[in-house]
Amino acid sequence: PRVRLYFINKNAYSTQVEYKPIRSVLVANRGEIAIRVFRACTELGIKSVAVYSEQDKMHMHRQKADESYMVGKGLAPVEAYLNIPEIIRVCKENDIDAVHPGYGFLSERSDFAQAVIDAGLRFIGPSPKVVQNMGDKVAARVAAIEAGVPIVPGTDGPVTSKEEALSFCQKHGLPVIFKAAYGGGGRGMRVVRKMEEVEENFERASSEAKAAFGNGAMFIEKFIERPRHIEVQLLGDKAGNVVHLYERDCSVQRRHQKVVEIAPAPRLPIEIRDKMTEAAVRLARHVGYENAGTVEFLCDESGNFYFIEVNARLQVEHTVTEEFTGIDLVQSQIRIAEGMTLKELGLTQENIVPRGFAIQCRVTTEDPANDFQPNTGRLEVFRSGEGMGIRLDSASTYAGAIISPYYDSLLVKVISHASDLQSSAAKMNRALREFRIRGVKTNIPFLLNVLENQKFLHGVLDTYFIDEHPQLFK
Ligand code: ADP
Repeated sequence: PRVRLYFINKNAYSTQVEYKPIRSVLVANRGEIAIRVFRACTELGIKSVAVYSEQDKMHMHRQKADESYMVGKGLAPVEAYLNIPEIIRVCKENDIDAVHPGYGFLSERSDFAQAVIDAGLRFIGPSPKVVQNMGDKVAARVAAIEAGVPIVPGTDGPVTSKEEALSFCQKHGLPVIFKAAYGGGGRGMRVVRKMEEVEENFERASSEAKAAFGNGAMFIEKFIERPRHIEVQLLGDKAGNVVHLYERDCSVQRRHQKVVEIAPAPRLPIEIRDKMTEAAVRLARHVGYENAGTVEFLCDESGNFYFIEVNARLQVEHTVTEEFTGIDLVQSQIRIAEGMTLKELGLTQENIVPRGFAIQCRVTTEDPANDFQPNTGRLEVFRSGEGMGIRLDSASTYAGAIISPYYDSLLVKVISHASDLQSSAAKMNRALREFRIRGVKTNIPFLLNVLENQKFLHGVLDTYFIDEHPQLFK
């Protein structure tokens, strides 16, 4: 039985949504997130299908699906997972109903979502139009303004000349942050604090962006001092209903990239939390957001918050939300794509109750003693931490596995859950200490330093945390 009939209430608010069960899901991704989605499929009685690159022939995600197909033979490792025509062909030849994009790769490509729909399949995510609008920084900011959500002051569009950059800075004042218009993942950013450095920094940032992303256009925003990065998890159904699953604090960042995530945000005053979650829901309703998504905010010391972006997909850190709400986000995504409403899923706002604190540590094969350079090779020994309150999401790492240089360096996500932040950190600390990994260096020593830091343990966090604590690197 694939439909949990007891949830269906004929008098619920939507009658116009058609329910069409999904029988098979292809995941256009690899590694831990592919396996995460396969697990949800299996639990729902849905067939799971993997695609894999030539380089991933021996990779575990291939083994964890009911079926698997190679794509992109002869292509570079990343290109294989970006090969839309071949992925669609695999779907058509193998009687697949729906596609889950995971995160990264094609997950934010509206042309992919559209290609999936054009092939008569269902895309497990928002509509192509929403994916496109939310992926476009300018359109997303306009939508936020329309929905009455505060945004960081910034340029109206991409800036290409140092003169434009200078005039923005003269008008709005310093500090500012330059962001590569076509960048992402925390890369291609630069903070400028002195007027005489604006032009030179702009030129440098722009040429770096051109080298890294193929385009030198930049956005300029007012730089918020000592912000917290707080993001709201949302779920929307096909009938236009939207709920939030509270927030995550992702302030523990290194070079603008998240390292440790916490849910809920510690020490966030209730009235700010309410305003943020309301703003996020308002924005999602305004754009007709369907399926899972995240609205990211920066929050300053005075409690003002500013919209930065929408991630129209599942995120790496969705796990902490699952742990502290008890709601399976991936199963919810699939059910929503089938046409179930939030009410039918039991996901009304009052049913979403936060419990305790969850923490996620991203264990990577990076060497903290060598500027976090990716480390590759054969895992000679691999034993993981386990026990109460610990969840592991990995690409089924095992002794003998080869850590390749082809993809990102995420080895395993360790998630802890307990009644308060300190107990959750204690569980995480204990679990990380149980790990035995030989053959490849990992960032575990660094993560342990974070977990033992008094500010961290008291939830006193902002995005300067890692940079201001050089002792974390010892
Ligand atoms: P990306 O899309 O590359 O992930 P984001 O816009 O989400 O980039 O920003 C990533 C991080 O960079 C934020 O979490 C924050 O730490 C920092 N950041 C971005 N914009 C600003 C800003 N205007 N002021 C201060 N910090 C910022």
